[in-house]
Amino acid sequence: MWQIKRNKLDISKVLVEESLFTVGNGYIGVRGSFEEGYGSGDIRPVGGSYINGLYDRVPISYGEYAHGFPLFQDKQPRIADTQSCEILLDGERVDLASGRHFDYERSLDFKRGISTRKYHYKTALGKTAKIEFIRLASFWVKNIFIYKINIEYEGKIELRCSVCADVKNLGEGSDPRMSLLEAKLMDNIFLKQKSGKIHCLMKTSNTNIRQATVVDYRILSDTPGSIRHDIDRGTATTTIEGMRSISMEKRCFFTDGIRFSDPYDECVRLSEEYSETSFEKFLSAQADFLSAFWSRSDIKIDSDDGVQTAVRFNLFQILQSAGPDKYSNISAKGLSGEGYSGHYFWDTEIYMLPLLQMTQPGMARSLLEYRFKTLPHAKRRALELGHGRGASYPWRTISGEECSGYFPAGTAQYHINADIAHSFIQYHQFNADYDFLASKGAEVIIETARIWLEIGNFHKGRFVVNSVTGPDEYTAIVNNNYYTNLMAKYHLGFASALFDEFEDIENETAKASFEGLCNRIGFDKEEALRMKKACDQMHLPYDEELGIFAQDDSFLSKPMWPFSEKSKSLSPLLLHYHPLTIYRHQVLKQADTVLAHFLLEEDIDEPSMIATFDYYEKITTHDSSLSSCVYGIMASRCGYFEKAYDYFTESINLDIEDTQSNTKDGLHMANCAGAVLSVINGFSGFRIGPKGISFRPYLPKNWKSYSFMIKYRGRKINVSVSAVIKFTLLSGDPLPIRVWGKSVELKDVLLVDNETNER
Ligand code: BGC
Repeated sequence: MWQIKRNKLDISKVLVEESLFTVGNGYIGVRGSFEEGYGSGDIRPVGGSYINGLYDRVPISYGEYAHGFPLFQDKQPRIADTQSCEILLDGERVDLASGRHFDYERSLDFKRGISTRKYHYKTALGKTAKIEFIRLASFWVKNIFIYKINIEYEGKIELRCSVCADVKNLGEGSDPRMSLLEAKLMDNIFLKQKSGKIHCLMKTSNTNIRQATVVDYRILSDTPGSIRHDIDRGTATTTIEGMRSISMEKRCFFTDGIRFSDPYDECVRLSEEYSETSFEKFLSAQADFLSAFWSRSDIKIDSDDGVQTAVRFNLFQILQSAGPDKYSNISAKGLSGEGYSGHYFWDTEIYMLPLLQMTQPGMARSLLEYRFKTLPHAKRRALELGHGRGASYPWRTISGEECSGYFPAGTAQYHINADIAHSFIQYHQFNADYDFLASKGAEVIIETARIWLEIGNFHKGRFVVNSVTGPDEYTAIVNNNYYTNLMAKYHLGFASALFDEFEDIENETAKASFEGLCNRIGFDKEEALRMKKACDQMHLPYDEELGIFAQDDSFLSKPMWPFSEKSKSLSPLLLHYHPLTIYRHQVLKQADTVLAHFLLEEDIDEPSMIATFDYYEKITTHDSSLSSCVYGIMASRCGYFEKAYDYFTESINLDIEDTQSNTKDGLHMANCAGAVLSVINGFSGFRIGPKGISFRPYLPKNWKSYSFMIKYRGRKINVSVSAVIKFTLLSGDPLPIRVWGKSVELKDVLLVDNETNER
């Protein structure tokens, strides 16, 4: 239950498995391609190793350019490829496509933080070799990645391991979610052998950010073998020879010029510092790190349908991709592939962060620090877009610059401002960290809130926000997108109340820092009042006849999408229809109005919430992987428990079973988080808001129990749901919580009756 496994090699699935078996630590990620390759068949490894936050920049060319279109796009480059290692047994190359292998086993272990692959291989001479590979991306020292290879064979063994500095990113012209053209984003400065190690210094082709790699080969076998390095243009090949058994470690050190002023020096220094550290020490440090992680963040599920492993897999992938510092974030595909060019989207704030906020405040905070660090870019961008003041965060980016070349489904998604603010507010709700709010959060919240006053206006007693795109990318440039307006209302409400928030606290340092901020950015009570007025008068489109919230002012006037059998087979729609055809219909790519109700249900009446769910569910294609989990969570909220379980099943298996047929391009990180949220926010109904925390827990059919932990304002709370619902205050002061809408005091242990409202 702590591993995903494969007991059979299916060559047709290896590219999907490269993503599934990615090994990463948030800083470095290496796709799970095979060291020895896939043999003489047609399939070539995609491979790819990435450093979170590293970017090159390529020009965007437009047929028709208009003012404010971004001219460049960040790309996450592949760094030196350290994965390949050919294996020869008595001179015969191990070839998985044509040779015989048996006892194949592959795993990704979430507790040990390693990936292993092993099998027996029969040579043409009829002799059998035992081959094993282990990979580890150290959580202890984030710059270290280790490959270990163990081979036993009654004969001559030869390994030809390489470090290849001649790398290119993939291109796949037909899918807008991938890059159009293959691109060389890294140039080799040098590749050399020094003191028995391979040293490689590269730089990003256009942004000139240096990146260093040092590879230290360590032969651990008892039998003496030989080792030889050859460098031929962009590739360093190290040949290791031995008899009967070879146990070898390829220890790789990676640094970059974003975090280090001299990445090469730092890389060499690290390789020396850890030269005596044993593999066992890395293993035990990895296990210690993960034991601490899981002790806070695990979700224990006792059920007959084996979902435990899938839930842990999805959570582990978030851990493997989460940027560990202010220089990085979580890209849409994590560090597992090149889909979406390694860009960071709103996915982080609305999907990944809510999960991390519950138990890993340190990780959550550093992701927010990234947004704070890139605030100057967002302020510049706001001016570029013609706004007088404020900050406009980019729809997609690595460096902080807007990288979307298609503004209707990019820059027009102004809701990203509110999404980011929502996350800072949520961090505050979880942690009551006034120092962070005063020093970083408030500035982001205020500067982003200013944009609503820039793009919205008062009209006939209502505040309206025109010409924006909501989360659903099958509808673009509309007036009063409900999600955007509801989020903006909340955002403006919080920003305008900041003076009150700081008034009553005892933390004088935070108070002074907030005052300093207001003076620096010219935020005063008068501006706060304008924000409050916009918040109070925000227009939230509602259709009286249908009793539902309208996705925007014009959405309900459009014809329905013809959901014929034909259109079903042409899925996803974005690959088969011109955007305008899609925009003119009532059809959704992903949750929009329904997502708004997940995030902000406070003032929404239940019948409207349910009717809204019913209406949009029927016309949502879920062509975006960000959709099913939200519908699942809201199905739980609306009392559709069976439906909720179906969505949950779909979400936990989306990558494991490659249901969107593009997992080979990388994992769908927002969905990975959403799969886990489906238990916490879905089945247990957990919500956090200005009034505290609340639950609506129920037990899915066929489950015996589930439990998890939440950290809230200095407390640790365990939630356990079985035939009985039990809240345990593990540490901290008693507090009131709401369960099924009723306020109850949580002190030590609280048992609650199950009041499920299944419909
Ligand atoms: C979705 C966006 C999302 C992006 C990256 C798109 O398909 O429509 O909402 O941010 O993928 O995951």
